[in-house]
Amino acid sequence: MRTELDRAAWLKGPGHECNVTPPRLLRPWRLVLLGPPGVGKGTQANLLGQRLGACHLSTGDVLRAAKKLPDCDRSPALAAAIESMQRGELVSDEIILNIVRERTGCIRCGGGFLLDGFPRTVNQAEALEAMLKEEHLLFDGVLCYDLPIEEVLARSSGRRVCSHCHGLYHLTAHPPKVAGVCDACGHALVQREDDRPEAARRRLEVYEKTAQPLMEFYRRRNLLLPVTVGAYPEETYKATMGVLLGLMGQCRDY
Ligand code: AMP
Repeated sequence: MRTELDRAAWLKGPGHECNVTPPRLLRPWRLVLLGPPGVGKGTQANLLGQRLGACHLSTGDVLRAAKKLPDCDRSPALAAAIESMQRGELVSDEIILNIVRERTGCIRCGGGFLLDGFPRTVNQAEALEAMLKEEHLLFDGVLCYDLPIEEVLARSSGRRVCSHCHGLYHLTAHPPKVAGVCDACGHALVQREDDRPEAARRRLEVYEKTAQPLMEFYRRRNLLLPVTVGAYPEETYKATMGVLLGLMGQCRDY
């Protein structure tokens, strides 16, 4: 299975191709990861990606990559999206759906997908459902990672991300070998602006408002897959694989 996932087409958008060929799979997994910001969805997506061969597609990563563009290369819509992100608010459905629709190739990819941070509203969920139907793609479900708010805040305040390769770490749950330095590429680890306490709390408030209707949307379709969140990423990963194995045992038409 792929050990390193190349997400050029997802992060940079139309006109870019990934230089890693998706594995030929008997059964590509197509999943959404749902849970409060800071619960560890990104880490799970990375672990699952290596095991399942599916690509970790985060809309937040697309916006953070766009933030690095010079001002003159940002469209007014993208600039507004980045401002909303910095305030810890949701970016409009219109902009997010444009970003995802421009990347339909990633949704169609033979390696499957692990969508993280999308959909975040029922409107986005309906659009994704329509997109999958149009592309005749089977959808496996929504891995749902839930935790009390205070615990999530403690987790996101300890999160650090590599300034170069975007590798994820946590000061206590998943520390780097050398403090402040990425194990994989040796670049500095930083705290994301939206993980700072004020923005983190704001993002959680927004999540609380939007998550329930989204869960209800998927529960009604029998697509919600609750996963028990462990103290360490490996525990949560094992629980996730247990849920996926259970799904394979069911007589679903894959
Ligand atoms: P994330 O890394 O998924 O927590 O996303 C970081 C920020 O990007 C969020 O707080 C939002 O401002 C914005 N964002 C990412 N994905 C979406 C989405 N699907 N809908 C609206 N805003 C989003």
